[in-house]
Amino acid sequence: MAKPVIAIVGRPNVGKSTIFNRIVGERISIVEDISGVTRDRIYSQAEWLGKEFNLIDTGGIDLGDEPFLDQIKYQAEIAMEEADVIIFITNSRDSVTDADENVAKILYRTKKPVLLAVNKVDNPDMRAEIFDFYTLGLGEPYPISGSHGLGIGDLLDAAIGHFPEEEEEEYDDSVIKFSLIGRPNVGKSSIINAMLGEERVIVSSVAGTTRDAIDTQFTDNEGTEFVMIDTAGMRKRGKVYESTEKYSVMRALRAIERSDVVLVVLNAEEGIREQDKKVAGYAHEAGKGVIIVVNKWDTLDKDNNTVKDFERDIRSEFAYLSYAPIVFVSAVTKQRLNKLPEIIKRVSENQRLRIQSSVLNDVILDAVAMNPTPTDKGKRLRIFYATQVAIKPPTFVVFVNDPEMMHFSYSRFLENRIRDTFVFEGTPIRILTRQRK
Ligand code: GDP
Ligand code: GDP
Repeated sequence: MAKPVIAIVGRPNVGKSTIFNRIVGERISIVEDISGVTRDRIYSQAEWLGKEFNLIDTGGIDLGDEPFLDQIKYQAEIAMEEADVIIFITNSRDSVTDADENVAKILYRTKKPVLLAVNKVDNPDMRAEIFDFYTLGLGEPYPISGSHGLGIGDLLDAAIGHFPEEEEEEYDDSVIKFSLIGRPNVGKSSIINAMLGEERVIVSSVAGTTRDAIDTQFTDNEGTEFVMIDTAGMRKRGKVYESTEKYSVMRALRAIERSDVVLVVLNAEEGIREQDKKVAGYAHEAGKGVIIVVNKWDTLDKDNNTVKDFERDIRSEFAYLSYAPIVFVSAVTKQRLNKLPEIIKRVSENQRLRIQSSVLNDVILDAVAMNPTPTDKGKRLRIFYATQVAIKPPTFVVFVNDPEMMHFSYSRFLENRIRDTFVFEGTPIRILTRQRK
């Protein structure tokens, strides 16, 4: 199920990124440190009172050399298009500016809930300063302080109160949901069209009840059901959509969330770009199955080393995706396209794999015998027991005497041992460490 989206809008310097970081909390830095995922700070998962959502800082969307007013206009439009709730941030220090009024006027056009926040109200005595902001005509302003963390709770309470009713996922759990993600022009639509043409399939496009998604269902020869989740931008192109690559990333994130398996499509002609790494990083972090598809393979002059060299580059650029299979295809010659459904199916099965505790614990015992657990000041990390607690992605809990002592490198070692023993090709796995009570 796609999570609700909150978008932050407002002119520069009002404190958008400060508030973004405050809401997202530690999450980004932890993820960055551990997995080496490349990402920017404009889009992140977040949580408030147990409700998960995605947060966009539209101020971080790079709209190139557009004039200032156009930039904030586009940002507001993106927010109105993408978000379920919009938080419009202003700043008590500057009072109401022309730019604020401009943003407000654009936001009048949306039916979506808009919450007006006045930032930099750093202490309760300053609350009187919010009164000017009533004139923006967007209801009661929320006084907040991003740097002091004041008022953010009330703001988020209001925001989650406006989330739409949760929709049930419309497909059976046995149906494999996948999406193709990649920069514009890498050949996503061409691959899909060729794939759907190849399969002896029953194809049906369903206008999803979920926002504006258009899903395509098909069945392979063995009767496995697939749903291709459209990356919206592929079929719905407009001025704003094309004006920025960053924006197409955001659309892709929605599709990633609803997918079991994500095909990260690269263009063989252009090699690997920063943008590719970001979307792939999101898929990894969301715990989705990942397949790297190198398209336009027909355009290269190949020799014995072409595949090897390309694979080596991918492995070094996408270090955290060491588990992802790589497929070289051409939507034009149809080379290897018929392999894709089979690989998607395999990865999806691996995502759902459950390992028996007894077998898992044997593997852990062997691992510990081979490479003893770390010690600190004469104390040794002790592993008591491990068990798989979830699938999609497979998630393991390791019970220990002191979780602090489970270093990243040791956890990575255990992950590698688990991967060596069981087939988790294409899926991230998670290892959580808990103290045995
Ligand atoms: P953005 O351009 O809207 O993303 O704004 P930033 O988050 O980069 O913040 C702009 C400046 O305002 C930075 O120097 C922040 O440290 C400062 N700032 C942000 N929030 C607050 C706040 O609540 N109180 C005060 N006094 N300064 C703040
Ligand atoms: P999308 O924006 O990722 O959906 O990309 P499209 O499917 O629209 O393809 C962009 C361009 O690349 C089109 O002109 C396609 O004809 C071309 N293209 C797509 N796949 C291939 C391929 O495998 N080989 C070659 N040579 N061209 C391709």
